[in-house]
Amino acid sequence: MSKADDCLFCRIVAGEVGTLIFADDEVAAFEDINPQAPHHLLVVPRQHIATAAELSPAREALAGRLLTTAARLARERHMPDYRLVMNCGAQAGQSVFHLHLHVLGGRSFGWPPG
Ligand code: 5GP
Ligand code: ZN
Repeated sequence: MSKADDCLFCRIVAGEVGTLIFADDEVAAFEDINPQAPHHLLVVPRQHIATAAELSPAREALAGRLLTTAARLARERHMPDYRLVMNCGAQAGQSVFHLHLHVLGGRSFGWPPG
């Protein structure tokens, strides 16, 4: 798997820092360090992909794996309702440029997002 040397999430995926709560051949998941809800998980590809803008038909299976993993983790954590968020680009709120899907649950969420 490609790994960006200075990427925080690549280091977490590699087990160099932090704790993984799930990992398979394509994706990994861990708790957000600054949770915005009682449950706040991040599901990431093992491969370094900076943003959702880098997704393409060749990566459809990987994109699907991110979603099915989020659904599985939500089920396992008894979260019937949850919010999935993928910020793409700085103006949309992305601060870590390794693709990640936020899984937030355990409280009510407003709409539209801020
Ligand atoms: P973004 O703002 O890019 O959509 O989300 C990045 C998320 O990564 C934020 O929710 C932030 O709290 C989380 N985060 C930043 N640094 C770390 C870290 O070192 N460990 C973990 N587990 N999460 C982090
Ligand atoms: Zn990375």
